[in-house]
Amino acid sequence: MRMSKGLFPTLKEAPKEAKIVSHKLMIRAGLMRKLASGIYTYLPLGYRVIRKIENIIREEMNKTGAQEVLLPTLSPQELWEESGRWEVYGPELMRIKDRHNRLFGLGPTHEEVITDLARREVKSYRQLPLTLYQIQTKFRDEIRPRFGMMRAREFHMKDAYSFDRNEKDLEKNYKKMYQTYQNIFDRCGLKYKAVEADTGPIGGDVSHEFMVLAKTGEDQIVYCKKCGYAANVNRAEYHRSPVTGHQSSVKEKPLKKVKTPGMKSVEEVTGFLKCKPKDLVKTLIYKVDGKPIAILIRGDHGVNERRLEKLLKAKEILLADEKTIEKVTSASLGFSGPVGLKIKIIADSDVASMKNMISGANEKDYHLININIDRDFKVDRILDIRSVIPEDLCPKCKTKLTFSRGIEVGHVFKLGTKYSQVLKATFLDEKGKEKPMIMGCYGIGLDRIMAASIEQNHDENGIIWPLSIAPYQVLVLIVNNQDKRQIKIAEKVYNSLEKEGIEILLDDRDLRAGAKFKDADLMGIPLRITIGNKAIKGNKIEIKIRKNNKVHEIDKKDLIPKIRSLREM
Ligand SMILES: [Zn+2]
Repeated sequence: MRMSKGLFPTLKEAPKEAKIVSHKLMIRAGLMRKLASGIYTYLPLGYRVIRKIENIIREEMNKTGAQEVLLPTLSPQELWEESGRWEVYGPELMRIKDRHNRLFGLGPTHEEVITDLARREVKSYRQLPLTLYQIQTKFRDEIRPRFGMMRAREFHMKDAYSFDRNEKDLEKNYKKMYQTYQNIFDRCGLKYKAVEADTGPIGGDVSHEFMVLAKTGEDQIVYCKKCGYAANVNRAEYHRSPVTGHQSSVKEKPLKKVKTPGMKSVEEVTGFLKCKPKDLVKTLIYKVDGKPIAILIRGDHGVNERRLEKLLKAKEILLADEKTIEKVTSASLGFSGPVGLKIKIIADSDVASMKNMISGANEKDYHLININIDRDFKVDRILDIRSVIPEDLCPKCKTKLTFSRGIEVGHVFKLGTKYSQVLKATFLDEKGKEKPMIMGCYGIGLDRIMAASIEQNHDENGIIWPLSIAPYQVLVLIVNNQDKRQIKIAEKVYNSLEKEGIEILLDDRDLRAGAKFKDADLMGIPLRITIGNKAIKGNKIEIKIRKNNKVHEIDKKDLIPKIRSLREM
C-alpha cells in the first residue's frame, strides 16, 4: 500500500477524554475515530489489526472442529422473555421497536438465539457434541462509555457455544476451549493469566477469565508465581497469614462517644480522628436471602462476598439499600456500628482480635471510640470473610501472592442446563430418554485484544505491534521525496517485498523526513526500511526494528533474506 494513495491520518495530540495509553494511541496513530460516545469507526490501519486477530481466532477455532455461523444481531423480546433475561439484563440491553411496535434486543450475547437454534435442529445424541461460533458486532448500553474500545457501546466479539450429552463431555469441551484460548492469546503476543471468575449475568457454575496484565486494567487479580493459582480479587481464596495486630494483651479503655460531623468514609473518619484505617471497624449491612445482617470488617479490608455466600450457605447476598440501613441502625449511611444493633452480627477473624476499636455510633454525626467485643456488644459468628490482602499466602502452596491489574479479553463458562432447561433444548439419549443439552459458552473481545496489546506494547513514541497482529509487517520510508534516485530504489524494494508476500507500506508522502519517522514510530510497524542517501552511494539499506530500536545496515542484495529472518524472530 502506498501511503500517498490512502487514508493514514495521524495526530500529534490525543483528545482530552482519552485517559489510557491504548485509547490515546489508537486515535493518534489513525486506527480509529469517534462517531458518538462509545461508538467508533475503524480506519484502514485499525481494521487490518482487527482482521488479523479475527483470522487467528478463526484458525484456532476451526482446529477444534467448531463450525462458524452468523446469528442475527436483532433478537425478539419473546425469546429473551423465555430465559427471563429481558428483565434481568437491565438497561445494558439495547432495545428497539419495529414499525409494528414489536420489541427487539440488540445482542450483547447470544445464548438465547443459539439455544433456540439447537432446540430446533438437534434431536438425538448422535448429533452431539456440537460447537458453533460466530465473530460479530455486539451492543451494550454502557452507562459511562470510556477508555475507547475497552468500554464501548458497539464492539466485536467471537462467541462460541458448545452442546454436550453429559457433564463429562462438557468438561472435555471446556478444557479444549481453555487450551484454544491460550493458543489464541499466545499467538496474539499477549502476556495474560487465566483466573477463576464470577459468572455474572451469563450465569452457570464455573468460569474463567483471561486477563491481560496491564496497569490500566479495570479488574484486580492475584496469582501465585509458584503453582499458577490465579483468581479475581473479589473471589480469591488464600491461606491466612498469622493474624495481623493481635491485641489480646492490650487493656480495654473506657468507651467514648465523639462528634464526627459529616465524616462517613473510612478516610474521612480516620483523617478527622487522627488514627489509622486498621484501628477502625466497618459495619456493613448486607441482605442475606432478604434478611439484614451486620458484617464487621477491619477498616483497611474488603469483604470476599463469594466466601461469605458460601460460608452462610446463602442463595443471594447483597449490600443493603439506604432505607434498610436507616431502619436497622436508626442512623444514616456512614454511621453504622455494632453497639446496640439488634440484628445478627458476623465479625471477620481479624476484627475478633482487635481491641479499642472505632466504629459508627448508630447516630448521625457520631462515632464511638474504644469499643470492645463482649464488653460493649456481642458477636454471633466469627468467620474468615475478608478479601485477600498482600500479606496472604497462596491457598494451594502457601507462597506469597502477587497482585496485578488486568484487562479481561476472554471468558469461558460452564453453563450446564441454565438455558437448555428453560428454553427446552432437549435431545433423546441412547435409551430414548429426553434430556436437556449441557452447554458451555466462550467469548473473546477482539477490540480488547487490540487495546490490551497496545497497553502492553508501546513506548513514548507510539505503538510496538507484535508481528502477528501488526497492520503491516514492513514500512519502507523514502527520506527525500524529491530525490528521483531514492524513489526508484524504494519502488524496487517495495515491489520485490510485495512479491514475497510481505505486507508492506510505502511512505511516499510528500512530507518532511522527520514527520515520516515520527509517524512510523507512532504506527508501530515492526520493521522499518529507510531509503536515503546511503542507499544511493553505498548500496546500503537501513532496517530498524521497532521493538528494540536496533538498526541493521545491510547490502541491498541481502535485503530479502534479512527481512525473512527478522520476520521469524
Ligand atoms: Zn501457589
